[in-house]
Amino acid sequence: MESSTFVLFGATGDLAKRKIFPALYNLFADGKLSGPLSVIGLGRRTLTNESFQAGVLDSLHAFSRRKVEDSPELQRFLKSFEYSVLDVGHPEDYRKLLGHVQRREEELGLPQNRMFYLSVGPEFFGEIAANINASGLGDTRGWKRLIIEKPFGTDLESARELNDSLNAAFTEEEIFRIDHFLGKPMVQNLEVLKYSNPVLRALWQNRYIANVQITASETVGVEERAGYYDKAGALRDMFQNHMLQLVMMMAMQLPKGSTPEDVRSKKRHVIQSVRPLLRENLAQNVIRGQYAAGEINGRPVDAYTSEPGIGPSSQNETYIAARLFIDDPLWDEVPFYIRTGKRMKEKSTRIVIEFKEPFNDLHNLNRLNLDPNLLIIDIGPEEGISLQLNTKNPRQHGQLEPVSIRHDSANPELPEAYENLIYDALLGDATFFAHWDEVELSWQWVQPIIEATAGGTLPLHLYPAGSNGPAAADELLGDAHWWLD
Ligand code: NAD
Repeated sequence: MESSTFVLFGATGDLAKRKIFPALYNLFADGKLSGPLSVIGLGRRTLTNESFQAGVLDSLHAFSRRKVEDSPELQRFLKSFEYSVLDVGHPEDYRKLLGHVQRREEELGLPQNRMFYLSVGPEFFGEIAANINASGLGDTRGWKRLIIEKPFGTDLESARELNDSLNAAFTEEEIFRIDHFLGKPMVQNLEVLKYSNPVLRALWQNRYIANVQITASETVGVEERAGYYDKAGALRDMFQNHMLQLVMMMAMQLPKGSTPEDVRSKKRHVIQSVRPLLRENLAQNVIRGQYAAGEINGRPVDAYTSEPGIGPSSQNETYIAARLFIDDPLWDEVPFYIRTGKRMKEKSTRIVIEFKEPFNDLHNLNRLNLDPNLLIIDIGPEEGISLQLNTKNPRQHGQLEPVSIRHDSANPELPEAYENLIYDALLGDATFFAHWDEVELSWQWVQPIIEATAGGTLPLHLYPAGSNGPAAADELLGDAHWWLD
């Protein structure tokens, strides 16, 4: 990996503290950052380098995966962090920043490779990109790259505007849009699972798959993010980005040895092939929900509308489920059931693949009332893969019963999503980042939901906190049902 300067906007914020500093430290401690390290943190507050470094150390103690012990190496790591005051709207601050970056490049003998990480609100992205351009920070003899966080727009139009503003300073190849679900090891493993297991590769199609269920449930409520969440809702916070990315990762089929460009083109093909929602059948395919008062782990919890910062008449959704179809010969007529919500029964992100019984008629297995075979891919918080099969139980007169073969890959030594993603961005590998085409097509697909919600034509179903969501979401599945509820 070529050395670079890591310029972090929003270095005094929550994300920097909880994810970015620990990720950089773990990459450093794992020996993955070659050459000298230079991180320049930016914020509006005035801070000395020493107090900034002390803040970085605090965050490592609180959030690092690896244990943090004092050592010359740790001191070397901390000394690589320097701080500059910058207000995003002040062009002169960028010129000062350029001087700072160049001074560090000279002191450390670094090539002019510059990574700009925008850990600030998206309302600042366009202005920062323009100022990077205008100040000369972007005129490098090496590479320049931009990492940005979600949310990427609030609808199709605003996403396009945001993208245009970034493109004025960075090309698509230079933009790395973080969707942290794509950094999760099990999501990165999905493609390998498919192409390196002939059994799965053969079955990965509509002839054998009855339906696919993707769930991302949380037990937490709106927490301290009421202002943001009450505008975003589950659709913008989770569905348009993370859930549709999981659909793409699940449904794409790649040949062995594919390049990042192949991955992007296959993902684009999937999202382009998702059958558009029609206004007349929207309510049969999309269920919006909001949590009412309930109980989680024996503890009573308030309704969404009683949360601090949320109005009593809020119609915002904290849950969304949808049935979608991918119009591609491989997936023809296989329903994908997707749901995500807050204040649900358990914290879990999981894909369940329910297989058909294609030999039913042949062997007349149906009368045995068999459970279907299931492949369960647990993405988080625990990672694992299970396969549910039917076997004969010798103790029960040979009665058939489902058994589960499970592999748990939980391992505290595994790199976290942000480590994987920052490392890939430093290498220039965009495989696990969201390409603009994917973002735009995802917004295009959810746009009818946004419009129906604004027009009041998509009902809001209440569900008790601690449940698996509104009963209406069960009806999406017809004769099937959600597994593991
Ligand atoms: P935060 O509010 O904790 O921090 C924001 C940072 O922006 C601070 O360092 C602040 O000083 C800086 N900032 C604000 N106005 C500025 C200005 N005018 N000039 C210069 N700096 C300014 O926010 P956060 O939680 O760290 O989130 C940062 C970004 O990451 C946001 O886009 C957020 O949506 C996204 N994000 C955060 C999380 C998370 O877990 N915190 C998760 C996903 C995405």
